[in-house]
Amino acid sequence: MRLTFYGAAETVTGSKFLIENKNNFLIDCGLFQGPKELRIKNWEDPPFNARAVKAVFLTHAHIDHSGYIPLLVKNGFTGKILSTEATAELCSILLPDSGHLHEEDARYANKHGFSKHSPALPLYTEAEARSSLRFFETYPLETTFSVNDEIDVTFHPAGHILGACLVELKFKVGKKKLLFTGDLGRPHSSFMIKPAKITETDYLVIESTYGNRQHSDEDARDRFEKIVNETAAKGGTILIPSFAVERAQEVIYLLRQLKEKKKIPDLPIYVNSPLTINATEIFRKHPEGHKINPRLLTDHATNPLECGNLHFVQDSEASKKLSGLKFPAIIISGSGMAEGGRILHHLKQKLPEARNAVVFVGFQAEGTRGRALTEGAESIKIHGEVIPVRARIEHIDSLSAHADYREILTWLSNFEKAPRMTYIVHGELKAAESLQDKIKSHLGWKTTIPKYGEGFDLA
Ligand SMILES: [Zn+2]
Repeated sequence: MRLTFYGAAETVTGSKFLIENKNNFLIDCGLFQGPKELRIKNWEDPPFNARAVKAVFLTHAHIDHSGYIPLLVKNGFTGKILSTEATAELCSILLPDSGHLHEEDARYANKHGFSKHSPALPLYTEAEARSSLRFFETYPLETTFSVNDEIDVTFHPAGHILGACLVELKFKVGKKKLLFTGDLGRPHSSFMIKPAKITETDYLVIESTYGNRQHSDEDARDRFEKIVNETAAKGGTILIPSFAVERAQEVIYLLRQLKEKKKIPDLPIYVNSPLTINATEIFRKHPEGHKINPRLLTDHATNPLECGNLHFVQDSEASKKLSGLKFPAIIISGSGMAEGGRILHHLKQKLPEARNAVVFVGFQAEGTRGRALTEGAESIKIHGEVIPVRARIEHIDSLSAHADYREILTWLSNFEKAPRMTYIVHGELKAAESLQDKIKSHLGWKTTIPKYGEGFDLA
């Protein structure tokens, strides 16, 4: 059996791990995001035969884990995509939206002529993304099922986001066990469930996004309270780059709590996204995946994922009107790392003014505008234009959906014996190396940081 890393190797995005045994399987199928030299890989032919992949196991719906699926299908894949139900539902929103954004980007590039390619083409279209959804097959958490005579699979809760799971594969011949963490959630989130305790595996593939960092113990609520009040007092707008589904609900949940306690003024909250969906329905259907009392979700008045003054902005005309708002407001708009989507238009408009604030709430990968801004860039480039940064920039990383290195080590300490090998992925090299050192000194385990395209024979 061979395990090869075709993404999330010495970097955070592009998660794709190939298992070659009797059949071929893929764990996650994500897009590369961030620096151009990574994104360019999305456009190359897949480094393996997509037709020969029997099944894809998805850890969760984030685009860096799922966004390559339409391309896999374009390249001839006809197998099964196996995931939890919530992941499939989120993918049915996220993948078409991703296709839509690729089309919008291509259209914009053509209109303004700043692409080197003419005409600029989308990586994939919304229609292609939709058509790839037919390969999904869903299974509940903590239920072992057989894929074929070769392999048994269990999805364990991973926390992180709705539907996220740890994928455990058990090979029937040789009885080998492999565990993939995907993105590992946090043990004490007030919003998401915690990752399952796992006590053994033969091979472990673990994420390291925050392998060199500790989340601060500050309360995200206190930070938001301060930023919202100070910005509103200046008549400014608070921009929150975040995807409109899943991540945005955690922010809305928190803002609603602040509003209820009258800690912040009742500013209008605009969720600016072409998605026609209010994610409440997905949360209501999946009480197993979060900590909100499901009874509250059934009533408008009590629904913690809605506030009285919450508006979903769907069409682009209404989106343009948001630019002309004369009063303080909160705008939530994707993408979360400011790499594309409607947030770019808001940033172009709001960054040059000191009264506004931009609040990042998720991990910001190397090479993204989000990373540049949170590291204090004085200007950034959007659509070929240099935009000065005078707005207040904040990063509330205690809202992170990823375990930090202390939380990862605590989770690993549940293992009764060391895996034969632990592969450290999903982290920038510095983060992965730091986690490697910590695993070595705390647990004494054998670890490897795989390189892109590096394969290992699992004896
Ligand atoms: Zn994720």
